[in-house]
Amino acid sequence: MMTTRRDMIKLMASAGLIATTTPFAFAKAPFSSIANAGYYRFRFGSFEVTALSDGTLPLPMGTIYQDAPEAHLNEILDNNLLGREPHISINAYLLNDSNRLILVDAGTGSLFGPAAGKLIANLKKSGYAPEQVDAVILTHIHADHSGGLTVDGVAQFPNADVMVPDREYTYWIDKLYVGHVVAGKEGEFAQAEAALRPYIESGRVKHFGPNEAPLPGFGSILRAGHTPGHSSIFVRNEDGEKFVIWGDIIHGDYVQFDEPDIYVTFDVDGAEAVKTREIALQEAADERYLVAGAHLPFPGIGYVTRDSTLYRWVRQNYVE
Ligand SMILES: [Zn+2]
Repeated sequence: MMTTRRDMIKLMASAGLIATTTPFAFAKAPFSSIANAGYYRFRFGSFEVTALSDGTLPLPMGTIYQDAPEAHLNEILDNNLLGREPHISINAYLLNDSNRLILVDAGTGSLFGPAAGKLIANLKKSGYAPEQVDAVILTHIHADHSGGLTVDGVAQFPNADVMVPDREYTYWIDKLYVGHVVAGKEGEFAQAEAALRPYIESGRVKHFGPNEAPLPGFGSILRAGHTPGHSSIFVRNEDGEKFVIWGDIIHGDYVQFDEPDIYVTFDVDGAEAVKTREIALQEAADERYLVAGAHLPFPGIGYVTRDSTLYRWVRQNYVE
């Protein structure tokens, strides 16, 4: 005769294998204090790619987006259940091509407070040490991309060269592009200089021109507007597929795919940023290449497709 589940429980109880009086005990487990991983890893052909979170910051996006009525922006935020100060991600990307460890953008360092500046902690959690980074390629020199290079005057990537778009260096460091530091933005210029200073002094800042290769095997696309030399960085895998780390083409994922003509207060030239965004979105949708965005929700990896409201962000399917 078959032993039923009920028979089995009776047997186990009589043998003292299970408690008969308190069948279920609930542990009052304290909250775990372990933070989110802060990194996300995948393979792109022979490249190992690691998205690194520098943290997220709550920002009043209804007032940061420009050239649209605030009521319209707030309606979009509400429709996306985001509240009025949605957190915006600050992402950087680490690529290992088996020969070199290359970081694209370096996070905020100590410039944006403790909610951010987590890049190095997350780099370590992902299995690497900052000393192993051979080069840092900057998409541009804004504080949330270059601040993490240097903290309190100390280079955080002691063995890395820093590859900087020419036009960025001229604008932020040489200050020749505009002939002087932009009035009211003295702090931003000082932060840019402080981030690069130790690397300049040790001769480790290298420049790349518009659309030139920052390093062998790495390409760049000038995407000016957000800043004068803002550049997307790309690699190709052995199947010829392209992976474009596009920098600050999009802030958030709920406004600018549908309305690319809305720019942000951080754009040095809003009108040019709008034109650039339209070109970048069109190209990404046409070529169907993989994209990484510095301010798309972490890990910020996916594709751009067209839909009835213009464009749509399609997150990379999660694979483990
Ligand atoms: Zn940025």
